[in-house]
Amino acid sequence: MKKLKIVLSVMLSCFIFLGLYLSQTRKKEYSATEFVLDTSCSVTFYGRNAKEAADAVFAELRRLDDLMSLYKSSSEVSKINAARAGEAVSVSKDTYEVLKTALEICEKSGGAFDITLAPVTMLWGFGSKDEKIPEDKELKSAVSKTGYEKISLKDGQTVIKSEDGVKIDLGGAAKGYAGDCARKVAKSYGLTGGIIDLGGNIICFGENPKSDDKKWTIGIQIPFEPSGTYEKTVVLDEGAVVTSGIYQRYFELDEKLYHHIIDPKTGYPARRDYKSVTVVLDNSLKADCLATAAYVLDKESAKTLIEQYKGEIYYEY
Ligand code: AMP
Ligand code: MG
Repeated sequence: MKKLKIVLSVMLSCFIFLGLYLSQTRKKEYSATEFVLDTSCSVTFYGRNAKEAADAVFAELRRLDDLMSLYKSSSEVSKINAARAGEAVSVSKDTYEVLKTALEICEKSGGAFDITLAPVTMLWGFGSKDEKIPEDKELKSAVSKTGYEKISLKDGQTVIKSEDGVKIDLGGAAKGYAGDCARKVAKSYGLTGGIIDLGGNIICFGENPKSDDKKWTIGIQIPFEPSGTYEKTVVLDEGAVVTSGIYQRYFELDEKLYHHIIDPKTGYPARRDYKSVTVVLDNSLKADCLATAAYVLDKESAKTLIEQYKGEIYYEY
């Protein structure tokens, strides 16, 4: 009888200890913000290793920025941009994957999304201290150097340009890919859930401990309102909510607004009556390319394109 009592009390202690341990594990929350990928990136993670996961995620974001930045001379994008026509440039799996998916969406969007806009975007210099309205003539000459069909991929590791002077800008895709990688890294730390915000690209996974149904509610930013102002929301278990908006990068001159989403046909900012497009999809890289493409396309063509990927699309005016 005495033995049974001891066994029972040991078991009870174990259960209490396990319960306390699990509740602590679930509750542990860690948030951090860093400037990387040319934007402010934040994470909020839940789980025992939340801080370690956040540190690893920021290291991953810096690694990807080093590969895909247009402005870092040591990046793989710079290596591709400096190459001559016909030269085989070997790149990492990461850059290759971004190029492969991005080129697929360049094609499916009929060139509304075009990764070879660097000669044009560098003239405008959005977000840099050299922002300016380029001369019409120089813009025309820059547009003539663009065209995604001038880039080809080979053997899972090689990029080849068909003309000298072709330059890529992965600004419309790299943050999306970084979101997918960040989620993978975060999950490898056994978190119970988390949310990642890469300057308008939101990725969530696992359980949201702050909601009764454990789902994530993501607000769609109202353009030009203070950050965090929203009316529409998207409720998700897991996935990406990616917004391309003219309020994210722009300058004003003589009461006219010039923004960073370029119509590849003209080299000028795309003129639309909406101010942002949001795409919801599990894959953040695809959502990123599609959101930029959808901003440039008319609404009917955007709908057809997004349907092919089984995504959802929302507009803000
Ligand atoms: P996002 O914020 O994802 O819409 O990407 C916008 C960024 O992608 C710009 O800052 C440019 O670097 C680049 N970009 C602009 N217009 C386009 C376009 N039509 N297709 C592909 N990339 C673009
Ligand atoms: Mg994009």
